[in-house]
Amino acid sequence: MYPILAYLLFAFGWWTVLLLDRTRETHESKVEQLGMRLVIERKIAHPNEIETTAAYTTLVAEFERQQRMVVGEAVILAITILGAIYFGYANVRQEVSATQQQRNFLLSITHELKSPIAGIRLILETFQKRKQLPAEIQEKLSTNALKETDRLTALVNDLLLSAKLETSYVLNLEPLRLQEILQETAEKVANKYPGAKIHLDIEPDLPPISGDRMAITSVVVNLLENAAKYSQPTPQIEVNIRRGSRLEILLTIADNGIGIPDNEKGQVWKKFYRVGSEDTRQTKGTGLGLYIVRQLVERHQGHIELQNNVPKGSRFIIALPIAN
Ligand code: ADP
Repeated sequence: MYPILAYLLFAFGWWTVLLLDRTRETHESKVEQLGMRLVIERKIAHPNEIETTAAYTTLVAEFERQQRMVVGEAVILAITILGAIYFGYANVRQEVSATQQQRNFLLSITHELKSPIAGIRLILETFQKRKQLPAEIQEKLSTNALKETDRLTALVNDLLLSAKLETSYVLNLEPLRLQEILQETAEKVANKYPGAKIHLDIEPDLPPISGDRMAITSVVVNLLENAAKYSQPTPQIEVNIRRGSRLEILLTIADNGIGIPDNEKGQVWKKFYRVGSEDTRQTKGTGLGLYIVRQLVERHQGHIELQNNVPKGSRFIIALPIAN
C-alpha cells in the first residue's frame, strides 16, 4: 500500500516538474520571437530592451498564470487521489472488520449454542441408559444440566436484548438502590465462580439512582462475570460505589486479570468483538456483553470508561444519574 502511494506521489511530482519545464521553454521561445519581431519592426533597438515593453509584461503575466495553474491543479489532483485512496482504504478496513465480526459471531454462537445442548443431551442419555444411578450422581448430573440450561437462557437473553437495543428497547426508570443490586448480584456471581473473591466498598447514605432494574442488573452481572472470567484462577474483584458529583453515582469494578491491551480498549464495545488473544479464546463468550453494557449505560444518560487496573487487570468506571 505505502510503496504504491509513494510511487504515485513521486510520478505525480515528476510529471508536474516536466510540465512546468515545458511551459518555461515555450515562454522563453515566445520571448525570443517577440524580441526579434520588435527589433525588425524597429520598436526597440536591441532584444535586451524587450523588458521595457507592454507586450513582454503581458507574456510574463500569462506565463506566471500558467505556472500557477499547473501547480494548483497538481495540488488539487494529488489531494483528490490521496482522499480517494484514504476513503477507499477506510471502507475496505470497515468491510474486513465487519466480516471478522460476522465470523466471530458465527463461531462463538455456534459453539455457545451447541455445547450446552450437547451437554444436556448426554446427561439425558445417561439417565435413559442407566435407570439405577446412585442418588449423588443423579444430583450432580441434574445440577450440571440445569447449569447448561442457564447458560443457554443467558445466551438467548443476550441475543434478544442486543436485537431489542437496536430497535425497540424502552427503559422503565425508577429510583434504584445500586448497592442492593450489587450485593445480590455479587453473591450470585461468587456462587457461579467459586474461586472469585468479590469485595464491596460502598459509601454510606448513597441516594438512589434513576434506572431500569433489569438493565442495571444486566450491566452489573456482565461486568462482574467478565471480571471473574478473565481473572482466573484467583479472581480478586474490587467493587466501589460512591458519590461522583451532585448528579451522579460512580460504580467501579476492578479485577486482577489478564487486562485489555490499549489498542483493544476502543474495540471491545463492538457487538461480537472478542480480544483475539489465546487467553480470551480459552474462555466462553460471545462478545455481546460489553456491547450491551455500554448501550444500556448510555441509554441511562450515563457513561462508562475502561482503564488498566494497578498492578494488573481491568477497571470499569460507570457514572449513573441520581434519581430526582
Ligand atoms: P465475552 O462474551 O467475550 O466475554 P464481552 O463483550 O463481555 O464478551 O467482552 C468482549 C471482550 O473484552 C472479551 O472477549 C474479552 O476479550 C475482553 N474483556 C471483557 N472484560 C474483560 C476483563 N474484565 N478483563 C479482561 N478482558 C476483558
